Amino acid sequence: MKSVLAALGILAALFCASLPARAETACPAETSVVAVPAKGGPAYGGMQYARSAGLGPKEVALTFDDGPNPETTPAILDILDRHCVKATFFMVGIHAQKHPEIVREVAARGHTIGTHTWSHPNNLRHFSLESARRQIRQGFAAVELALATAPEEDRDRLAPFFRFPGLNDSKPLMAWLGERNIATLSCEFGADDWRSISAAQVRTRALRNIASVGRGILILHDTKPRTAEMLSSLIAALRADGYSFAQLVPEEGARELAAASRDPLIGAVRRVDIRDEEPETAVLKPSLEPATALQ
Ligand SMILES: [Zn+2]
Repeated sequence: MKSVLAALGILAALFCASLPARAETACPAETSVVAVPAKGGPAYGGMQYARSAGLGPKEVALTFDDGPNPETTPAILDILDRHCVKATFFMVGIHAQKHPEIVREVAARGHTIGTHTWSHPNNLRHFSLESARRQIRQGFAAVELALATAPEEDRDRLAPFFRFPGLNDSKPLMAWLGERNIATLSCEFGADDWRSISAAQVRTRALRNIASVGRGILILHDTKPRTAEMLSSLIAALRADGYSFAQLVPEEGARELAAASRDPLIGAVRRVDIRDEEPETAVLKPSLEPATALQ
C-alpha cells in the first residue's frame, strides 16, 4: 500500500511539475468591494477632495483611464484576471465607439466602468458649459451604446462615475453632474505612467506614492504599454507588502437613481436607439491648456 501511495505521490509531483506556471499565479486573494454613493454627485479622492471612497487601511483601488485601447487594454485585462483583481476603467467615448467589443470585454470580466468625456479635452473649464456638458453626455452615451448589445448584468457595469480629464474639475459641471446623481472620482495617488518614463519608474513611483498615503485610489492608464509592462509586478509587490485590492462599485440603487434623474446621463441610450443614432460628433474649441499634471 505504501509503495502505491508513494507511486501516486511521484505521479502527482510529475503532473504538477508539468503544469504551466499556473500554481504561481493562483489567486492569493480576491478583490473586496467598496460601495460608492453617487446621490447628489459627491466627489471622491484625497488628492483633490476632502472625501475618500471608503477604502480600508492598506486597501488600493486600481483605476485605468483613457481606453479602451486594442494594443494594451486586453493585456491589462489578462493581468488583472491572473491576479484576481477587479478595477475601474474610465473610458473615453470616441475610443469606446471605435472598440465596443473591448468595452463589452471589460464589463464581461467584471470590472466597473466609468466615463472620461467624449474626446478627452484636457480642461473642460476652457469650454462653454454647453460644449463641456455635451462632452460628458456623449462619453456616457458611447459606453452605453457599446454595452447595449451586452447581457443585462454586463450593461450594469456602467457606473454613475465620472472622472475629469486632467482632473480639471469645474464647480458648474459638478453641480450639473450632481443633479444627475453622478459621482466625480479623482484619486489619492498617481504613478506618472503618462510621462515618458520607464515601466520600472512607474512601478517605483506607484509604490512610493501608495506608501506615503497608505490607502486609496490609484490612477493609471490602460493606453500605456509601460503600464501593462509593470502591472503584474506592481500587484505582486503590493500584495507582498500587505496591501489588498478593492473594487469601486456604485452603491445599491445608485445606477437606478441616476437613470431616474431628470435629463439623465445613464439610461439615456435605449436599445432601440442602437442602429438609428450614433452619438453626435463633438465640435469643440481646442483646449488652450498645456499638458497638466495628470491626464
Ligand atoms: Zn485621461
